Amino acid sequence: MLEFLHGIIEGFMPSVLVCFNPACRAKYAVTEVIYNCPRCGGLLEATKPELTQTPAQLKKLWRERRMNNTPIDQSGVWRYREFINFLDSESHIVTLREGNTPLLVSPKAARYAGLDHVVFKHQGFNPTGSFKDNGMTCGVSQAMRLKMQRVACVSTGNTSASMAAYASAAGLDPIIFIPNGNISYGKLAQALEYGAKTFQVDANFDQILALVRTLAEKLGIYLLNSINPFRIEGQKTIMVELMDQRDWKVPDWVVLPGGNLGNVSAFGKALREMLELGFIDKLPRLAVIQAADSAPFYTFMQDGGKGEFHSVTKPETLATAIKIGDPISWPKALLEVTTTGGVVESVTEQEIADAKAQIGAAGIGCEPASAATLAGIKKLITAGVMKQDADVVAVLTGNVLKDPDYIYKYHTGALDSPHGKRLLSTYGNRPIIVPNDPDRIAALLN
Ligand SMILES: *Cc1c(COP(=O)(O)O)cnc(C)c1O
Ligand SMILES: [Zn+2]
Repeated sequence: MLEFLHGIIEGFMPSVLVCFNPACRAKYAVTEVIYNCPRCGGLLEATKPELTQTPAQLKKLWRERRMNNTPIDQSGVWRYREFINFLDSESHIVTLREGNTPLLVSPKAARYAGLDHVVFKHQGFNPTGSFKDNGMTCGVSQAMRLKMQRVACVSTGNTSASMAAYASAAGLDPIIFIPNGNISYGKLAQALEYGAKTFQVDANFDQILALVRTLAEKLGIYLLNSINPFRIEGQKTIMVELMDQRDWKVPDWVVLPGGNLGNVSAFGKALREMLELGFIDKLPRLAVIQAADSAPFYTFMQDGGKGEFHSVTKPETLATAIKIGDPISWPKALLEVTTTGGVVESVTEQEIADAKAQIGAAGIGCEPASAATLAGIKKLITAGVMKQDADVVAVLTGNVLKDPDYIYKYHTGALDSPHGKRLLSTYGNRPIIVPNDPDRIAALLN
């Protein structure tokens, strides 16, 4: 532990890892290469920041850093480094200027959902196009600190795209494992382009995860899967940046899609810590939206999370980023949704597709999983859970270009649900085939 005390990052005490299981709460140094609690197998989390400056001082400092040209101050994650205090030296930081994502408003999208006003925080503006970058900058920086040369994850999606970029930027070797036949090309293309060594394994997700764990231990590879507690620390800054952008005015609701539930865990942790440390004076309610056929957390929370958690054996949805049947972070998500007085909702494929087209038609655009937010808001308004004049922030998690195939099919009436049901092209905008004839085209434009 002594090495922490001589860290060169000034102004805060470094955190330790704590087991999330309330019956255990074992503590470990942040330099231990562990992914679960060695004693009980529970999830791990970094302890709350111990600040040496007041919230007022830090709010001022964080605002001032936006004016600096140094890479870590330009980063929308590391600008808030006092709040994610696991590193002992800034020299380990790997940044691609992640975060800094805009707040966008759309009266049209608000009207669609039945709200007076809605704000989108668009994480698709990140370097690799999703919020995974907020976490990955921390995960890869930790790999640097641990002097790991190789990093790995099991993913066909945004995690692999992000890990590949950050690892390669750091001079590390990214290794990606993907299940056979289950590939999302937009995201995999990024991983290949960013130089990840990619193994397609003839096994299912859980089997591959077990395989990778064995390999990781044997070969000294650092795992960057979604339970990595440092990735969660990085994703906390999405909420810190949001509050900073709103001059610390807390919204009534923060709405986000739920897959593995790492993001809701990060948001809830950030909000609780900001409240406990005096940065904000209340908590927003978290609303987690799942796709109907990949909704184990929704089902679990129907009775407030008192029963047993049942995973979904064969999750289905075209919103591949939330196609998760066994969300690893559910115990954390349960705490965060409960603490904030939050809710969990589920939405159909058609509801996601139509909400997505509305977000697109507002000039904003997002990938399918992100659109679950607006679809969920519409349902919560109809159900009377959310009020029409509520102050609502919806977090759009990924970029519109992640899934162009889905978009083209929706607009041309060729999008089928995973069960083979043709979805309606409710807000379709299909290309029009015309002859090379100005009069005919002019007639169509009248
Ligand atoms: C990873 C991801 C999600 C799901 O986030 P979890 O932390 O797994 O709940 C949602 N949307 C996009 C675009 C993602 O990449
Ligand atoms: Zn434990």
